[in-house]
Amino acid sequence: MNLDSPVGSLPFVGPVYVRKLKKLNIFTIEDLLNHVPTRYIDYTQVSKISQIQPGETVTIKGIVDSIKNIYTKTSKIIQLAQLSDSTGYIDVVWFNQPYLLRNIKKDMKISVSGKVDWFGNKKSLISPDYELIREGVDTIHTGRLVPIYHETNGISSKWLRSRISYLLLIIKPELNEFLPPSIMRKGGFEDLKDAYKNIHFPNDIIESQKAHVRLSFNELLFLHLANEYKKIDWQQNETVYQLKVDKKEVLQFEERLPFSLTQSQIRAREEILTDLASATPMNRLLEGDVGSGKTVVAAEAAFVAFANGHQVIFMAPTQILAQQHYDTLKETFNSFNVRVTLVTSQGIKGGPGKTDVYVGTHALIHKKVDFENVALVVIDEQQRFGVEQRAHLITKSGKKNKQSLFLRNKAPHVLTMTATPIPRTVALTAYGDLDLSTLDELPKGRQRITTWIIPPHKRKGAYGWLEKQLKQFKTQAFIICPLIEESEIETMKQIKAATAEFQKLNVVFSNYSLGLLHGRLKAKEKEVVMSAFKNGGVDILVSTPVVEVGIDVPNATIMMIEAAERFGLSQLHQLRGRVGRGEKKSYCLLFTEKRGANVTSRLNALRKGLSGFELAELDLKLRGPGEVFGTHQHGFFDLKIAKWQDTAAIKKAKEVAKEAIKNPQKFSKLLSKLKPPKIAPN
Ligand code: ADP
Ligand code: MG
Repeated sequence: MNLDSPVGSLPFVGPVYVRKLKKLNIFTIEDLLNHVPTRYIDYTQVSKISQIQPGETVTIKGIVDSIKNIYTKTSKIIQLAQLSDSTGYIDVVWFNQPYLLRNIKKDMKISVSGKVDWFGNKKSLISPDYELIREGVDTIHTGRLVPIYHETNGISSKWLRSRISYLLLIIKPELNEFLPPSIMRKGGFEDLKDAYKNIHFPNDIIESQKAHVRLSFNELLFLHLANEYKKIDWQQNETVYQLKVDKKEVLQFEERLPFSLTQSQIRAREEILTDLASATPMNRLLEGDVGSGKTVVAAEAAFVAFANGHQVIFMAPTQILAQQHYDTLKETFNSFNVRVTLVTSQGIKGGPGKTDVYVGTHALIHKKVDFENVALVVIDEQQRFGVEQRAHLITKSGKKNKQSLFLRNKAPHVLTMTATPIPRTVALTAYGDLDLSTLDELPKGRQRITTWIIPPHKRKGAYGWLEKQLKQFKTQAFIICPLIEESEIETMKQIKAATAEFQKLNVVFSNYSLGLLHGRLKAKEKEVVMSAFKNGGVDILVSTPVVEVGIDVPNATIMMIEAAERFGLSQLHQLRGRVGRGEKKSYCLLFTEKRGANVTSRLNALRKGLSGFELAELDLKLRGPGEVFGTHQHGFFDLKIAKWQDTAAIKKAKEVAKEAIKNPQKFSKLLSKLKPPKIAPN
């Protein structure tokens, strides 16, 4: 048996358990070892029977004098045992576990840990954990720090403990240290074997913490190494088309824009243009706050490809966004005769003849579109696509180049974009295989959006205010329904709630026209609602949270968000970014259901004019990564052992990963542990 063996190769782990363990993402022996405790119960206080006091949590080691089932009048079964040590005896009580009598028998030596309390009028141990004492074998369920694990139906912490403790005995030879001694010394790391033993069965909390440091480091190190290799792998490709960047042309293009670029747009543009001119295909992530102007930067890259006579694919996650990009790009490219085509599940829309830029949804992947000479693939809101989908598109776009006589593979330039600002340390790990460009400023003249927190008793007043605004300023509003489930796909529950809210609001705002938007609407229906909102036919757009964060409606100046406390700060920030896009003063109203001091202080951060990146950092500190990355992720950000908050460890692991790749000799043991890299790019 080795670390890669299936977990089913352990004794007493049959097919039923294997299936259940999958739910915990445990497939191999190594996965089981890395299933680290979420906490420990302190059963370290071992007492003599004569000394224990009610209310204490203690461990007693003694001999079973008797054990029997007692049937109560209410048809419950109590298991009553008497236990004695050299100082006295005590009753031990369990409830409704008649099978205990098969395990615990008279004259056995057992160890029990639990709470001392009165039962009847006697001091007793109530429902304690127990195990038989065997000569020369340490206890694992009692009398120590006892690990508690993330469990699933049919897989208890007790079961996990027994399998892991057995595993630790037999797997030792596989846990030989793989870090060079110098790294061990410098990092103050604990030996691998000790770390595994001490994370599961520590003698004290300090031991468990040291083990945690070491195993976190391992996890981060392997993540970084995988990224480094993915990056190297990608760089083995050759560009399909090495582009000529004519700076004069690019500047001409910029001159025709209705605005001048921000400093960070210029920086990102330079980074991208340098990539495009290189023989190695670009693989870059453009990260930026909502409204920071990523589209135009991507458009410049597209323009360069066009100027070189090549095609561009521009993929967005939803119909509405694709439509919006189609409109924007057509307008932006208007005076340059760039031919733009829209590809969605609805069909293919574009002028007759050839296409220069294909804009579309994932229909681009499976629709029959004949890409000819794609030099650049742009993927917007990339976090909403799976790795496979992205890889698929990139492969498809390069199909025509399959017959290449070159030995190396050919790949187009790839620019991915995300509007989820994530803290830099996280980005460098999660997207470590990509080059990173960041738009960290908003275009000039953007107004601050006035943000209010609205407790329940002010709701009526807020509605009154909204009505006045609509009337007086002919403005428009979004109302975002509560976030119900943290799931990527909108649930029926979510849609029902939105529909109910919509009906309620229709009564409140009976003089106005309301639209409803949610994920289960047909593409055509969505488009009808959206275009009605865009051209002013709908005054208030009621929407579920997961829909269409990227839409641009300059006349909408009011964003109302229900149950704001359920959202992460960056999510709220993104939703708020839907308004404040035009000339008019804009507002964001955060309705709360609960109003603890916590809620208020957290939401107040939104009133301070922090950037999306700063809010993401704050989210990470206050609520952990799940909140930062919101509902659209693919489980991509889950760390099993390490924490994203641990910036120092993340940096350190990255350094070591880089060093390892430079010195394969020195790190040969570490590198030999790597699984073959996945080719799919991020
Ligand atoms: P995001 O980064 O969220 O995708 P967009 O690309 O949709 O942002 O840009 C938001 C809005 O800002 C668009 O209307 C766009 O035309 C405008 N915009 C982009 N760059 C600038 C700039 N430098 N100055 C002024 N407006 C800009
Ligand atoms: Mg965008």
